[in-house]
Amino acid sequence: LGNKFIITVDGPAGSGKSTLAKALAKKLGYVYIDTGAMYREIAWKALEEGLDIEDENAISDMAERCHLSFKQEDLENRISLNGTDITRLIRNDAVSDATSKISRYSRIREKLVSQQREIGKEGGIVIEGRDTGTVVFPKGDIKFFLKAEAEERGRRRFLELKDSAKCDLKMIIDNIRERDKRDEGRTLSPLTPAKDAILIDTTDKSVDELLDFMVKVVESRCR
Ligand code: C5P
Repeated sequence: LGNKFIITVDGPAGSGKSTLAKALAKKLGYVYIDTGAMYREIAWKALEEGLDIEDENAISDMAERCHLSFKQEDLENRISLNGTDITRLIRNDAVSDATSKISRYSRIREKLVSQQREIGKEGGIVIEGRDTGTVVFPKGDIKFFLKAEAEERGRRRFLELKDSAKCDLKMIIDNIRERDKRDEGRTLSPLTPAKDAILIDTTDKSVDELLDFMVKVVESRCR
């Protein structure tokens, strides 16, 4: 593809965003950007420092002092904080939960959104998150918004975690519902589809089928 589109992929936890955004980036030879990882990094640091997650000022001050860097390696985003790679530490329930709390804070969103715009400004990117089509790149070329039933999203997360953590399916589904409620209900950049987003229900679809569809959409915009 000659075009260097900005493609956004938003949706709730377990909707298939990461899998599909990565697969699409690979197919197109684009850069993949995982914005959730950046919010997770701040939450991880706040927990690490023992800060009170509800203390907006303390956490925002800490975030402003942090130097976050982002690098793509074999389609995985390597995230480092003040020079230390913490990619492997940010995917667990405690961090997920803290992340959906600190992601409500305006100074944190401002810092991360401007960093995301900077990384993506040349185009040729697939960027995933909750607000990439609405706030980060409101003029993005192609916007997807994925959704799926909460039970199915819980099952996917359960399969992902099964080997690594103690997990209970019902608890995972409850956590996902709670996180959705916070992400959808916040005043600042709530999780919601952009007006021009293409909505896709991924509940009963295979990855191949979904990817095929997304690639066709991109190809149709190339003409
Ligand atoms: O996608 P992921 O599960 O890694 O996102 C973790 C949390 O980060 C979300 O529940 C949400 O609160 C927050 N987030 C956000 N805006 C984004 C990406 C993630 O608020 N663009």
